[in-house]
Amino acid sequence: PKRIYTFRQGDAERTADAVAALGLKGANLAVLASLDAPVPPGFTIATHAWRETKGAGGDLPQALKADLRSAVEWLEGVTGRRFGGDRRPLLLAVRTSAGTQMPGLAESVLDVGLTDRTVDVVAAELSDSDFAYRSYRRFIESYAALVFDADLAEFEDLSDREKDRVGWTVEPRNVSEWRMLIARYHDFLERELDAVVPQTPLQQLVEVVQASFASWRSLPAANHRMLHAVPENAGLAITVHAMIFNERNQKSGRGRAVSRDLSTGAPQLAGEFSIGGRIEAFDEPPEPIDLASFVEQGAPSFSPVFTELAGHVRRIEAHAGDAVEVEFMVGDGSLFLMQYRPARRSAGEAVRVAVELVSDGIIEQQEAILRIDPASLDLLLHPTIDRDAGLTVLARGMGASPGAACGEIAFTSERAQAMAADERPVILVRNETHPEDIHGMHVAEGVLTIRGGTTSHAAVVARGIGKPCVTGAGSLRINAASGTLHAGDRVLKEGDRITIDGSSGEVIEGEVRLIRPSLSGDFATLMEFADGARRMGVRTNAETPHEARAARSFGAEGIGLCRTEHMFFEGDRIQSMREMILASDETGRRRALAKLLPIQRSDFIELFEIMAGLPVTIRLLDPPLHEFLPNSDTEIVETAQKLAVDEAVVRQRIAALQEFNPMLGHRGCRLAISYPEIAEMQARAIFEAAIEAGERAGAAVVPEIMIPLVSLRRELDFLKSRIDAVAAKVMEERGRRIDYLVGTMIELPRAIIRADSIAEAAEFFSFGTNDLTQTVYGISRDDAANFLSTYVRQGILDRDPFQTIDVEGVGEMIALACEKARRTKPDISLGVCGEQGGDPASIAFFEETGLDYVSCSPYRVPIARLAAAQSAI
Ligand code: PEP
Ligand code: MG
Repeated sequence: PKRIYTFRQGDAERTADAVAALGLKGANLAVLASLDAPVPPGFTIATHAWRETKGAGGDLPQALKADLRSAVEWLEGVTGRRFGGDRRPLLLAVRTSAGTQMPGLAESVLDVGLTDRTVDVVAAELSDSDFAYRSYRRFIESYAALVFDADLAEFEDLSDREKDRVGWTVEPRNVSEWRMLIARYHDFLERELDAVVPQTPLQQLVEVVQASFASWRSLPAANHRMLHAVPENAGLAITVHAMIFNERNQKSGRGRAVSRDLSTGAPQLAGEFSIGGRIEAFDEPPEPIDLASFVEQGAPSFSPVFTELAGHVRRIEAHAGDAVEVEFMVGDGSLFLMQYRPARRSAGEAVRVAVELVSDGIIEQQEAILRIDPASLDLLLHPTIDRDAGLTVLARGMGASPGAACGEIAFTSERAQAMAADERPVILVRNETHPEDIHGMHVAEGVLTIRGGTTSHAAVVARGIGKPCVTGAGSLRINAASGTLHAGDRVLKEGDRITIDGSSGEVIEGEVRLIRPSLSGDFATLMEFADGARRMGVRTNAETPHEARAARSFGAEGIGLCRTEHMFFEGDRIQSMREMILASDETGRRRALAKLLPIQRSDFIELFEIMAGLPVTIRLLDPPLHEFLPNSDTEIVETAQKLAVDEAVVRQRIAALQEFNPMLGHRGCRLAISYPEIAEMQARAIFEAAIEAGERAGAAVVPEIMIPLVSLRRELDFLKSRIDAVAAKVMEERGRRIDYLVGTMIELPRAIIRADSIAEAAEFFSFGTNDLTQTVYGISRDDAANFLSTYVRQGILDRDPFQTIDVEGVGEMIALACEKARRTKPDISLGVCGEQGGDPASIAFFEETGLDYVSCSPYRVPIARLAAAQSAI
């Protein structure tokens, strides 16, 4: 293979697998050159030569030296300059070029070719001896640092002493003072390091290349390779090109140009630029100026350069098919491009640029869809923390519902409501939340729990209502007695401000500035692209009008899960619910249920109207009744008073409903089988609402009634016959026909195994992956956080199976159930409504399995639309 590849504007020697052979910079310069961009002419010494050198024990082999000589001759021909020449000497920049960014590699060495002799030739050519000597001084320093491992601080001391001795201030004032300084440098190197900077340019080049190659073995580079699995044998390439004097004068400079204004997507140069001509070559570079304003101010001497730059940047963008960032230099009014890469950008910028690239005809819609990370959309839908502000992190938990929120600490839902009523922003801080915390969660800006994982009650509810939530912040401690929150030795009390980041899981002290999202037209356009490309439907999990509206505005195509139990916690409804639970017989229960009926009916009417003809899946009551009863003594007393029953009765009932394993206990369809009147009331509310909403809105509603936690076909048969009976009755009463579906959730292993038989009785299946994961693994979804993080850290699990589907276990069971169900009912509708319905990796699996739709919390709907599109492409 070739050892050296040359490049110049309009022409580059190409090779297959350019990055592996030439490294990033080398491959990049070759592309720029062949796009006819003005690159400085030069050549790249390929990784193959590095391997040869390594094989030869580290010294450049003769053959490589010969090739180097020819390459330099070629460059002399191209530039019309001579390396070490007495007129127009050629000077070179030497840079390492690895296949990936890597620390520990040799720094660039500039002005290779300067010697005690050529420095004066350059000074005469440029009529600027200060510039020439300044460059020479820098060259000696970087050469000595790289080749002799010299300490740069020694040169600084040396120069300080010379300054004091001779009396100059910033730098030598004339050639003779410069020469004295350089002579000190030479003396020092010879005396202290027994080293001499070669006065033959070719020898300089050979030594710099050799030492640069050796930097591949530096400790930081080796560590980086180990960490990022870069093979040691990948090797290093080196680019060598003619020097550009970008610091020479006020017509010189360097900058970074981005092809688009990333905040609008508009094609327009952005970036920064700094004008050269620095006095002190060792200072930090001057503050860069914003390129756009620089162009606007119409700096006359640069305007032709920037016009030229804009043209090249356009062409590079079209070639790359993406917004690019270009590094460039200007040497005495001439433009040179050094490197390009895809522009770094935020999620919002990425969306805007992808959409603009489609409308500019540079990429196809599919490409735009694939370019955006669905998870990054989260950041567009929620406020984020201004990371520029100094942050004091009190604790880290799990990011359970995205977005950031700040507010005052409230330890109970009652206090949260009271504080919110005073217009104070609240963060509800609880050990864990329970259904009765719903109110507190609704009024809070965000929710923080000490326990629980990403499918805990707090997490699920917070995602549903779009509130930021951090769960499992286990290092925090609530002291209920003193009403304090302890984070290490910091103590916070009610009313103290904290900020939570539901994306990163951080809990931060005090109020942090938040950046508000704005959903631009480009976001909507990207979503349209996605809708055109996806096969699966996207519904939402919603029960309140607020959630349903939010979900529709995010493009939900119906409700895939309405958890009716949440509706019973609103306002006074909990009282009727408690009355029903406390009733001693069916008559008592029916009396209480009659009070709930109109409330449920109007809830459903509202949902149906918001969803305007789209499918709405309503799940019958699911949680154990215990969850509806009061917890604290005061609440028990209150409840007894309100319902005019004896306090002892309430306590007895609470005790009777206590279960060892409530999640595996008296819940789901088991409740409805024990108390069919509950299911009948719910069914009646649904049918009456469907008729009324249909009459009002004129849109036909086809409610889908969903029965939870089924494991036996006969459970379904039992309940379906009762629901059908209610339907028949309502239709007769109202004199109207309604279409409806009765289906089941699949959340238990037995239901999977019997899916063929269950499908005969069901019109649809919806996989409840939260409970299914819990029951397939036998891991409690509410207690999993305590040990799952250890599993993930120890590499026993790659991810939390409650967040992303466990394809090999739970996934295989879902696939099995689909296959079995379709065997007995080919056109059965199959969906998923667990948390994984909004997880991009899980969505890819659901697409593969051929599910008809996913259902997820409102704020995840756009993510699911995009992820579904990506998995269908
Ligand atoms: C499920 O189990 O996946 C589900 C959607 O139901 P819930 O989370 O309400 O138990
Ligand atoms: Mg469930």
